[in-house]
Amino acid sequence: MSIKQNLLDIKTQTPEHVTLVAVSKTKPNSDIMEAYDAGQRVFGENKIQEMADKFEALPKDISWHMIGHVQRNKVKYMASFVNLIHGMDSFKLLKEINKQAKKETRVIDCLLQIKIAEEDAKFGMAKVDAINMLQSDAFKELQNVRITGVMGMATFTDDQKQVTAEFNRLKTIFDELKTLHSNLEIISMGMSGDYELAINCGSNMIRVGSSIFGERNY
Ligand SMILES: *Cc1c(COP(=O)(O)O)cnc(C)c1O
Repeated sequence: MSIKQNLLDIKTQTPEHVTLVAVSKTKPNSDIMEAYDAGQRVFGENKIQEMADKFEALPKDISWHMIGHVQRNKVKYMASFVNLIHGMDSFKLLKEINKQAKKETRVIDCLLQIKIAEEDAKFGMAKVDAINMLQSDAFKELQNVRITGVMGMATFTDDQKQVTAEFNRLKTIFDELKTLHSNLEIISMGMSGDYELAINCGSNMIRVGSSIFGERNY
């Protein structure tokens, strides 16, 4: 199967209101260009340095999404070009993104990563912390960041019931947070193994890697 065909297959199974983020982490620029030539413009990476290198080398109309965990001391390497940061999970991090965005005279869009999985390993904020942050004066002072949605990762399991419950939880949290913060539009949930389920649970942004580019070799 070619990258182009894989993309077409996913596109035909995806409603138009759902944004497909092609997750190109670990993949060479030639693979990204194959997807680009097939019309794909939104790509996701999970390492800031790798994303910055790809940004330098590739066409400038690509929209780059940071989908991985963000270390505060590396925000400066992507502040000039990143389009959406999915893994925003603390006010400290948001303040640093705001600071770096201000230097670039930009406003950077971010998603609140919410912890929905049972597993301990997953990053993300608890709902109550997200609510407290959105209501705080300190948050309202930040002029160079905008929270445009939520992101979540389900537990890595074959148990569809559990994954469904976790996706439903994120949709419910999104609905609740939206009553406090009307800028929220995006629900980023669903990967290669579960994006159809995620869409059925209300996702409007899916992050798909291996189903487009094949398995990754680390
Ligand atoms: C790698 C990754 C994906 C894509 O995973 P696939 O199973 O290859 O589709 C999605 N989201 C995040 C946060 C990732 O790190």
